[in-house]
Amino acid sequence: MAYSDPQSSALIELPADAPIQLFDLKTQQAQIRPALEQRWIDILDHGRFIGGPEVTECEAKLAEITGAADAVAVGSGTQALVMPLLAMGIAEGDAVFIPGFTYNATANAVLLSGGYPVIVDIDPDTFNMDPADLVRKIDAVKAEGKLTPRAIMPVDLYGLPADYSAIQAVADAHGLRVIADGAQAFGGKDNGRWVGNLAEITATSFYPTKTLGGYGDGGAILCQDTDFADRMRSIRWHGTGDNRKESVRVGINGRCDSIQCAVVLEKLTLFDAERDRRIAAAAIYNERLEGVVGLQKALEGQENGYGLYTVRVPNRTEVRAKLSDAGIPSGIYYDMAIHQMPAFSHLAEPGSLPVCEAAAEESLSLPMHPYLSADQVNRVCDVLIEEVKA
Ligand SMILES: *Cc1c(COP(=O)(O)O)cnc(C)c1O
Repeated sequence: MAYSDPQSSALIELPADAPIQLFDLKTQQAQIRPALEQRWIDILDHGRFIGGPEVTECEAKLAEITGAADAVAVGSGTQALVMPLLAMGIAEGDAVFIPGFTYNATANAVLLSGGYPVIVDIDPDTFNMDPADLVRKIDAVKAEGKLTPRAIMPVDLYGLPADYSAIQAVADAHGLRVIADGAQAFGGKDNGRWVGNLAEITATSFYPTKTLGGYGDGGAILCQDTDFADRMRSIRWHGTGDNRKESVRVGINGRCDSIQCAVVLEKLTLFDAERDRRIAAAAIYNERLEGVVGLQKALEGQENGYGLYTVRVPNRTEVRAKLSDAGIPSGIYYDMAIHQMPAFSHLAEPGSLPVCEAAAEESLSLPMHPYLSADQVNRVCDVLIEEVKA
C-alpha cells in the first residue's frame, strides 16, 4: 500500500479492520520500491557487487546522521561486535563485561574473539546494564585475579540507550574500552546525541526487522576514531593492506555488499519520519499503560528509538493468549537470560542474576513499527488493560 505522505511524522490512518502486525516491512517497501529498483539496476550495470559506490555512500551517510567520525559497513551486527574486539586484541584471559539480558549475539561475539564474557545484571526499569552491578563485577574479577578486565559491551535494549555517562565513568576509572551494542537502537538518542555517537565504538545491525534494516544481513561499526575505522576496513577484507592482497593482520570476510547498502540508503530517506511515528505510537502505549503494566523507563534526556515496545507482565502466558484471541500478535524478547542458555551456562550460576531472570519471565513485546494507526495501538491497550485488570 502506497502511503500518501511518507515524510509525515503523524501516525497513519487505516481502516478499522486492518490487521495488526508485530512488524510491517511491506508498507515501508512500497514507499521506497521505485527508487530501490533504480538502485538495483545501477548495481547490475556497474557490476561492483562488493565494494561498490553504495558502500562508501552509505558509510558517509551513517556518519553524517549519527555524528560519528566514521562508519564502516560490515556483513552483520554480529561482525560489527566481533571486529572491534579483534582490533583491540581481545584474547584469552580478557574479560569483557556484557549485560545478561540481551540477544545471544552479544555473548557469542565476545566468545568468538577469544575473550570471556562476564555477565552483569540489568536495571529493572531500563532493562539495560546496571552500572552499580558492573562495578561489583569488575571488582570481583580483579579480586579473583584470573582474568584481565579489558572492555565493556553495553546493549541498548529495545532501542533505549544504555547509561553511557555512568558506564563511561566506570570505564575511565578502570582503563576499559567501551563497545556499544546498538543493534536494536539506531535512532535512539541521549541528550540529542544519536546512538552511534554515545560511545567510542558502536555496532549496529541491518537485520531486516531492526529500526534500520536491509533486505538481508548487514551491519555497521560507528566510531570516533578514523584510524580505528580504517583498521576495521582492513579486518573486514581478511586483514589486508591497501593492495587487498597480503594480510597485515588477522581478519575475516566482514564486508557489507552493495545491494544491502543501497537498501539502507533508501530506508534512510524515510528514517526520520519513521522514527517520529514509532515515538508517537509509543507515546500512546506509555500514556495508557502507565500503572497497568511495567514500562521500560528512559533516563533523563534519553530518547528510546523503539526497535521494540516491551512491557513487563507477571501473567505473561495468559496475557499473550488474550492478545492472540483478539488477533494481536506479540513477541518475547527474551524468554531466557544469557546464562540460562546451554551454550553460556558456564558463565554464571542459576539465580545469580535475578533481575535478568525476572525480565526473562515477564517481558512481552507489543506491536511496534512506523505503520501502526492510533486506533490499532489503542486496540492493543484495550485488550491488555482488560486482561491485566481482570
Ligand atoms: C540483532 C542483534 C545483534 C546481531 O545482529 P545480526 O545482524 O543479526 O548479526 C546483536 N546484538 C543485539 C542486541 C541484537 O538485537
